[in-house]
Amino acid sequence: MTTNTEKEIVKRNLIILGSGPAGLSAALYAARAHLDPLVLTGMVLHGQASTTDTIENYPGFPEGVRGAELGQLFQTQAERFGAEIEMDHAISVDLKQRPLTIESYGKKYETDSLIISTGADPRKLGIPGEKEFTGKGVSYCGTCDGWFFKDKDIIVVGGGDSALEEGLFLTRFANSVTVVHRRDELRAGAILRKRAFEHPKINFIWDTVVTEILGEETVNAVKLENTKTGETQLHETDGIFIFIGHLPNSGLFEGQLDMDGKGYIITNKYMETSVPGVFAAGEIADPHFRQVITSAGMGAAAAIRATHYLENLEAERAE
Ligand code: NAP
Repeated sequence: MTTNTEKEIVKRNLIILGSGPAGLSAALYAARAHLDPLVLTGMVLHGQASTTDTIENYPGFPEGVRGAELGQLFQTQAERFGAEIEMDHAISVDLKQRPLTIESYGKKYETDSLIISTGADPRKLGIPGEKEFTGKGVSYCGTCDGWFFKDKDIIVVGGGDSALEEGLFLTRFANSVTVVHRRDELRAGAILRKRAFEHPKINFIWDTVVTEILGEETVNAVKLENTKTGETQLHETDGIFIFIGHLPNSGLFEGQLDMDGKGYIITNKYMETSVPGVFAAGEIADPHFRQVITSAGMGAAAAIRATHYLENLEAERAE
């Protein structure tokens, strides 16, 4: 095991955690301000948006753009101005002392300022069989796993935009897509609702939750329970795609930054957190909008404020 003393020490003005739209937009702005930013990509290069098949609501792409392509474009643009993107993953941070420190398995990073854009992960159902069959019929990403369900019958859990968008995408492969929703009204927006209702491969089971996932090598059925009548039934299926929201990746900062009850980092309108020099942007600090464009905007704003912070710090040190 590598001990702290053996770790390579890397010193920077500004480190950005996460490589989704917020992190890479922050990197672009910071690089253009000559802050020499270093982005630690985290586990999911280019973040959740890169696992979206087509993004149709990011301005500038009237025909839509593949999520993976947009992520690469963000990176290329940030790198063009000198941002450095490193495939590394923070395992601990210390925001109580100066410089701020971030450790990965192999390195110790020291920085004067930090932009946190670590995003969010899919929320789990927390039912028997879910963990056991993840990757064996249970999935949280249609774009990643849809291909494996060619001509299969699958269910999608959730009633929000993600459930319908991913459900519609999955009709490209699956024989049928059954959306199981716990209420009788969708949370998703009008356009997606209309597309889903009109799609011949999509059908709905309302007022119902999945209580167990069953199978042998792979998933072959789910147990369903009607939330109004309590009635249960076994529903045969080849796969279950779960889209029931997200949980912010803020565990590393617990006890060091102010957060709301759901673990989202609290910022003011300048993207400043409760620790000076530490900013947060994108879904880690945004339970409301969670769009590529809003995350990118927050990233740019955080970088602008980090620039001011570092200028002031430099002036103070020069005094
Ligand atoms: P969401 O809007 O929070 O919807 C989550 C859905 O899962 C809801 O229908 C919720 O039911 C259901 N759910 C939550 N916990 C559950 C549980 N334990 N068991 C069963 N069902 C459960 O999440 P999202 O769809 O991921 O969307 C997140 C944000 O991203 C939203 O702001 C959305 O507009 C945005 N988004 C936009 C697009 C787009 O514009 N194209 C695409 C994807 C996402 P209830 O409805 O009963 O609460």
